[in-house]
Amino acid sequence: MKVRVIVPCYNETAVLQRTIDKLQEILDADAIKQGYTYDLLFVDDGSKDTTIDILQQAATQSPVVKFISFSRNFGKEAAMIAGFEHSVDCDAVVMIDADLQHPPEMIPDMVKAYGEGYDQVVAKRNRDGETASRKWMTRLYYKMINHWVEDIELVDGIGDFRLLSQRAVCALVSMREYNRFSKGLFAWIGYSTKIISYDNVMREAGESKWSFRSLLNYAIDGLISFNNKPLRMMIYLGVSVFGLSLLYIIYLLIDTLLHGVSVPGYVTMIAAILFMGGIQLISIGVIGEYIGRIYYEVKQRPNYIVRAANVDRPSEDLYKVSYTSHMEEKQYSVSK
Ligand code: UDP
Ligand code: MG
Repeated sequence: MKVRVIVPCYNETAVLQRTIDKLQEILDADAIKQGYTYDLLFVDDGSKDTTIDILQQAATQSPVVKFISFSRNFGKEAAMIAGFEHSVDCDAVVMIDADLQHPPEMIPDMVKAYGEGYDQVVAKRNRDGETASRKWMTRLYYKMINHWVEDIELVDGIGDFRLLSQRAVCALVSMREYNRFSKGLFAWIGYSTKIISYDNVMREAGESKWSFRSLLNYAIDGLISFNNKPLRMMIYLGVSVFGLSLLYIIYLLIDTLLHGVSVPGYVTMIAAILFMGGIQLISIGVIGEYIGRIYYEVKQRPNYIVRAANVDRPSEDLYKVSYTSHMEEKQYSVSK
C-alpha cells in the first residue's frame, strides 16, 4: 500500500523545513507500524522566496521528498489538483497545509480509518482562538450556503485536510472544471466519509494568504459555482417587482380617475427609477458572474503550468475511476 501526502506551499520558507522534518518523523514511524510505504509531494505554487530551494535540498537528502514547482502562483486550488493528478497511482492521498495548522499527528489515524474502509477521512477543526465576529460570519455563511445549495452539504470547520482513497482522487481528477471550489467538490463526489476532530491551531510561522476580500470572494465562489439559484432568485425578484408595480399602476389609475391629474410625484418617480435601476444592475452583475465563469471554462486552459518537478505524471489510463474500493475487493475475493 502506498500513501502520499500532498503539501501545497506558497512562500512557506519560514516553516517549510519544520514541516518536512515533522512529516517525515511521524510517517517514518507510522509506515512501519501500519505497514505501508509513503512519500511527500510538495507543490510549490510559484513561491517568490526560497521555498523551492528548501524542497530541492530536501529532495537530494531524502528519496521520499518529491516536488512539483509551478511557473507562477496559480492558487491553492491549482496546487491541489496538480497534486491529485500526479497521484492517481497511489492507494491513498493525504492533503495537508504547509504551515502546520493541520496537525500531522492526525495522519496515522486517517490512514487507520482508510484501512477500515473509508474513502474520505476528514479532519474537522473547531474555531477556538478566532474572533467572535469571524465565528459569527462563518456560521451565517454556512447557513446561507446550505440553504441555497441543494445536492451537497457543506460543514463548517471541514477543509482540505483529508485523506482520499484512490477512487476518490480519480473522481476529483475526472472533474475538469477550471473554477474549482474544492470544499464543494469533496462533498459532491460522495463516498463513505469519516470525520475526526481536532483543536484549532494557529499558524506556526509566516502569514496567512487570506485577506478579508479574498475570503469574501471565496464565499461568492462557493455560492455561484454550485448552483444556479441566484439566477432563479432574479426571476422571483423580477416577478415580485412587476406584481407590485402593477398594483401601484392600478392604484394610480383609480386615483387619477377620482381626483384628476396631480403634478407632484417627483419622489415616487425617483424612488421607482432608482429602485428598478438597482435591481437591474444587481441582476446584470449576477448574470455577468455566470458568463464570466463560462468564459473561463470554454477556454479550456490548463489549471497550472509546471516549471520543474522530480515526479512523473501517471499515464492518462489511470484517470479512469476504478469502482471497487480496496475493501470491497477484499470482501469480494473472500467470498469467492
Ligand atoms: N497556498 C498555496 N497557494 C496560494 C496560497 C496558499 O499553495 O496561492 C498554500 C499555503 O502555502 C498553505 C495552504 O495553501 O500550505 C493554506 O494557506 P494559508 O495558510 O495562507 O491559508 P489559511 O490557513 O489561512 O486558510
Ligand atoms: Mg494556514
